[in-house]
Amino acid sequence: MLSPLDYFFGLFSLDIGIDLGTANTLVSVRGKGIVINEPSFVAIEKRSGEPLEVGARAKEMWSKNPKNVMIVRPLRDGVISDYDTTFKMLDYLIRKAHEQTWVPIPRPRVVVGIPSGVTEVEKRAVYTAALEAGARDVFLIEEPIAAAVGAGLPVLETRGSMIIDIGGGTTEVALFSLGGIVISRSIRVAGDEMDEDIVQYMRTKHNLLIGEPTAEKVKMEIGSAYPLPQERIMPIKGRNLITGLPAVVEVSSIEIREALSGSVNILIDTVKDALDDTPPELIADLMESGIWMAGGGSLLKGIAQRIQEEVNIKVRLAEDPLTCVARGASRILEDYNNLRRLLVGLHRGSTHH
Ligand code: ADP
Ligand code: MG
Repeated sequence: MLSPLDYFFGLFSLDIGIDLGTANTLVSVRGKGIVINEPSFVAIEKRSGEPLEVGARAKEMWSKNPKNVMIVRPLRDGVISDYDTTFKMLDYLIRKAHEQTWVPIPRPRVVVGIPSGVTEVEKRAVYTAALEAGARDVFLIEEPIAAAVGAGLPVLETRGSMIIDIGGGTTEVALFSLGGIVISRSIRVAGDEMDEDIVQYMRTKHNLLIGEPTAEKVKMEIGSAYPLPQERIMPIKGRNLITGLPAVVEVSSIEIREALSGSVNILIDTVKDALDDTPPELIADLMESGIWMAGGGSLLKGIAQRIQEEVNIKVRLAEDPLTCVARGASRILEDYNNLRRLLVGLHRGSTHH
């Protein structure tokens, strides 16, 4: 509960949660919900090094392949490898969220979700980047915890709960109890890898060269992890590798399921592996409450059903799985006193006030 004083100041301050995803970056503002939802792409002019576009417009440029522009996906593998670009993105996002308020209010308090297992140096980088980008206070939270809070899981309770977050670059499986992560697994197999599976499949089975943006569309349209009630056919445009000419190939959802099966099996093995290490009492909890899924990859048709059959525990999608991390991150500031222990501490100067 907020004290009356907190509530009073809350009216005049901007609290935002940021999900720096490998595929999509979202900003959630307390009292308003999701205000920014953009692909994690930055277009940088090669000559000057200045950012030209951030988000959807940068992603559009990416599929056009312009010569004088470099397209950077700073978080592609779930690691903040590129401080400059990460800073530029945060700067853009925080300013944009701030600009959307029509009264002059103090600089925002910001909770940023970071992939679990990032190094101390990377945590510092995000912390500093957010401060320099104009945040008044910066807090960090591990993405699986933010996802679980956003999905409404009882992470503070003794009973165990589990979330599988399939993003673009990484899949994270995490088991929670008493506000902490008890077991976690993080792998580099997620949505991007599935796109590559489809590119590869079209090349080897149909001699058709397609790009990642096309592969992603195919995955979303007809991709699946479990037989569909009604299997489907989709025409796919590309370039024939033998003739070099444009070509269209009709592909079935059954074929695409086969193309994705390697990655899907790796995901399933990862969940099984996490369950293998889960203490028996917590397994009993999961059998009651089920396992929850979040992230864009959880929207792959039949993925929840497939995992459920493989592990013999009920698997369900969180509500609005793409926004769980951002919503969870901003939730922390709504109930700061209770939820602050979910935040990540930084060595050498703490983020906890
Ligand atoms: P991140 O947290 O890494 O930014 P997201 O949670 O935003 O990732 O999920 C992005 C991934 O989800 C992308 O690989 C995208 O292709 C995939 N995705 C989104 N919608 C669907 C869908 N309907 N079917 C399959 N995959 C999807
Ligand atoms: Mg994510």
